[in-house]
Amino acid sequence: MLNVDLAFLKLGDLVRRVNETERVSIDDAIGRIAAESVEAPIDLPPFDASAMDGYAVDAAGLDHSSQKRFAVIDESLAGRPAASSLSAPGDAIRVFTGAAMPDGANAVVLQEDAVRRGTTMITGAPVRRDQHVRHRGHDVRRGSGLCCSGTRLSHFHLSWFAACGIEEVTVSRRIRVGVFSTGDELAERGTRLGAGQIYDSNRFAITSLLREKAVETFDMGCIPDHPDMIANSLGKASRNNDLIVTSGGVSVGDADYVKEAVDRIGRIEFWRIALKPGKPLAVGRVGNALFFGLPGNPVSAIVTYLLFVAPTIDRLGGHEPTPPLALAATLNGRVRHSAGRREYLRGTLQSSNGQLVVTPTGDQGSNRLATFAGANCLVVVNEDRQDVEDGESVEVILLPDESAHLMRG
Ligand code: AMP
Ligand code: MG
Repeated sequence: MLNVDLAFLKLGDLVRRVNETERVSIDDAIGRIAAESVEAPIDLPPFDASAMDGYAVDAAGLDHSSQKRFAVIDESLAGRPAASSLSAPGDAIRVFTGAAMPDGANAVVLQEDAVRRGTTMITGAPVRRDQHVRHRGHDVRRGSGLCCSGTRLSHFHLSWFAACGIEEVTVSRRIRVGVFSTGDELAERGTRLGAGQIYDSNRFAITSLLREKAVETFDMGCIPDHPDMIANSLGKASRNNDLIVTSGGVSVGDADYVKEAVDRIGRIEFWRIALKPGKPLAVGRVGNALFFGLPGNPVSAIVTYLLFVAPTIDRLGGHEPTPPLALAATLNGRVRHSAGRREYLRGTLQSSNGQLVVTPTGDQGSNRLATFAGANCLVVVNEDRQDVEDGESVEVILLPDESAHLMRG
């Protein structure tokens, strides 16, 4: 059996990143991978602006200790700059947040610190140069980087692009993923279960997890446990996909034909990982497509997808995934574990009196989707460990989109 870390390394070597790119509107760029660095085409903000509501003044030569009196000669609103500039000492221009600083002004007196009487404004507060002024380019300077090639574009990047007036961005083309399940026992949703049948949940789980990635998914249905039919589907999938993800049929049972079929028309690169759940995972290549044969047990399929397939999709698109953030938590309960395989248990992570505490979600059978109920993390028990006792420290990684749970504590 292959050690998990070694499997990650081997997998990394198998990935050939996709080189085709396309220009897309920032409206359609969420989750896409930038294929070139993006620079700010303008200064942001594009002009010196007031950060507060108040009065724009020239701070030069003002006496800090006494009251100052100004003549309010004009106003500057957001989008409607003042027509006048500060020319005489003691002039002020009414300004609002986001309004352009008038020529000659270099400080803003807060309206809370000012008393207004007609066209006169009086303040006793000190006025320092640059106070409450957002300088041109203070968020980002024209020509400086907004993101580099290989960045997965988030809402925050795209908002920044929008603020800079960027309309389109060059991204890697979407990775194409062909997905099918194997198993004579599998029934489609919407049909009646026959004797000995179960509904296909893995294909649903995988296609639904794939929706979090900017990929094109080709759902190829359920394929019976028949070597020729499996080989046929693999061949078809390999013609227009970068990645093929199947589930089931990679174990050592009599009806496990998937590996054999891959070997017939492609090649198995590695199989059987020292991992729980997910030992039978098979990785290979069919034509130009990378192949993942996920185990049939629903929990194993999901866990191996998260550990192996998800980061591979990122790499294929040119984004180097950051390893999951490992958090140390106190185990609430006991985990029976014999050394040899790395185990990923589903758990509920909570913050209790400033400490992270994780509770495994009951019987961890790899057929039990129930172990995901209430789970927000995976508890990692390394291959060299034996049983983990209540109160010991363990490493946890968050399930996708679960950082919110951690924040709520
Ligand atoms: P296999 O890896 O094909 O031996 O399957 C292992 C277990 O997972 C068996 O109990 C299968 O019935 C179950 N299984 C296989 N494929 C699926 C699927 N697509 N959805 C739900 N369960 C499955
Ligand atoms: Mg099977």
